Amino acid sequence: MNDRSKEQQPSRKLTIAIDGPAGAGKSTIASRLARKLGYVNLESGAMYRALALKAIDKDASFDDEATLVKLAQNARIQLEPTIGGNRTLLDGRDVSARIRERDVSEGASRVSIHPKVREWMVARQRELGAGGGVVMEGRDIGTEVFPDADLKIFLDADPVVREQRRMAQQKIKGDVSANVAAELRERDHRDRTRAASPLVAAKDAVVINSSALSEDEVLAQVEELVQKKIGAEEK
Ligand code: C5P
Repeated sequence: MNDRSKEQQPSRKLTIAIDGPAGAGKSTIASRLARKLGYVNLESGAMYRALALKAIDKDASFDDEATLVKLAQNARIQLEPTIGGNRTLLDGRDVSARIRERDVSEGASRVSIHPKVREWMVARQRELGAGGGVVMEGRDIGTEVFPDADLKIFLDADPVVREQRRMAQQKIKGDVSANVAAELRERDHRDRTRAASPLVAAKDAVVINSSALSEDEVLAQVEELVQKKIGAEEK
């Protein structure tokens, strides 16, 4: 290939995994990065949230793995990335706002401990991201969903900072419950200690601690890693 035809080749579309605990800033960074790159941003957590909502609507227990898998198999969970943000549809209904409520957050954390639920989710997530050109965020993207992802970021922040950020977000939503910090800690503990795909940084992930960084600073670091990756491929 001569230099000119090389120049004209568009870069291969990467698969980018962003994992980390709640409140580390994954959603904002993933959606801003995807927008900049013209990639699709997929929030895997929204799928666990949609399943939890379905369980609530059907009066199913978060502990009943077999029923949860059946609910998942019969559910139509759609992630629709739009310019104004990501929409989540459950059986054709826009549940984007509803799945951010506290009962669903708790439910998502509880349904996600079941290995068979995770198996179902991981298979769907692999289908969704199959073409590349995606920034997928969650807890196990770099370890389970896309172990061969082109770039893996583990975005972390100190617990106190994450709690403060989450409380500020809740305040904006008008929910000033004193339990926010305790709930976050509980979800964190569940994610890190569950037997199936616990939250852990992939061995080849770049760990970024965002505690003392602004969103712009984190994004700049991630973009630099993306450019390095693209540059290395084009050499
Ligand atoms: O990221 P988000 O807070 O929306 O995720 C909701 C819950 O879903 C998390 O608390 C976590 O327990 C679970 N989750 C997961 N694996 C993922 C994404 C989310 O277990 N890849």
